[in-house]
Amino acid sequence: MSEQTGPAPLDDQHSPDQHAEPGEEGREHQPGGGVTLADVLLAIEELWPESLAEAWDAVGLVTGRPAQPVRRILFCVDPVLEVIEEAAEQEVDLIVAHHPLLLRGVTSVAANTPKGRAVHRLIESGIALVSVHTNGDSAVGGVSDVLADALGLDGVGPLTQAANGLPEEGIGRVGDLAEITSLGDLAERLFAILPAVAGGVRVSGDRDGLVRRVAVCGGAGDSLFDAVRAAAADVYVTADLRHHPASEARESSPDGRPYLIDVSHFASEWLWLPAGAAALDNVLTDQGHSLDIRVSSINTDPWDFILTPSEG
Ligand SMILES: [Zn+2]
Repeated sequence: MSEQTGPAPLDDQHSPDQHAEPGEEGREHQPGGGVTLADVLLAIEELWPESLAEAWDAVGLVTGRPAQPVRRILFCVDPVLEVIEEAAEQEVDLIVAHHPLLLRGVTSVAANTPKGRAVHRLIESGIALVSVHTNGDSAVGGVSDVLADALGLDGVGPLTQAANGLPEEGIGRVGDLAEITSLGDLAERLFAILPAVAGGVRVSGDRDGLVRRVAVCGGAGDSLFDAVRAAAADVYVTADLRHHPASEARESSPDGRPYLIDVSHFASEWLWLPAGAAALDNVLTDQGHSLDIRVSSINTDPWDFILTPSEG
């Protein structure tokens, strides 16, 4: 988790809080003027409705009082203690985390457990926490949409359609590159787009093989192979690919397709943070609110270094 391996901080182009710059102080609403957590939760629901979350998921508000004021928001992938400390230092009022802090049932949040420490730190610091997880994956502008956009895919649709959503909503995305490219070049493009992490980018397939139709799924996507094959994708970009699903996918494809590109789970979802922050800022700005919305600068990928044979 050294600073060198952390994702680059937001550049000006991505900064969603530019309306708070000097020169616009004449706006009717000063930063945080009367905005409550309940107001922000409504904006979050508009963008990433909870009805789009998978049945097993735990999305929504984890800590916080709906009536508490919100001036500063921090987006992160993992609401780990280091990120909560970052939020406390920056006097953040609300953390929007992709991963749930509490996914499974708990019977204690005692501060001598990691989850309990996080809950205590949040409440003691007056920080609200909301999880936007599979609802954020499924929605338009969600995690896989952002990945598809970053690769410049056209004609993008979901890999599996949402049960309670619009036709364009669902888990994963598939679309076409503007130009046929080699598997190696596509992997290099991904490597350049994603934040730097120790594990890098792993590829299964012919480096010079040509690809055009690309399936993507931010986060762990090895349950979607049937949908990837049904979509006739040349290559599947996802994270956390395990040995057996990957090996079986290779065995079942006569021409090696879909090729596989396995990226860091954290990195694949991190791309959504600046996009999600900007989307939330747009909704709140349209409502006349002006908040300071930031992206965590902490790399929460759990891996720190890797040993590989050098390329011959
Ligand atoms: Zn994830």
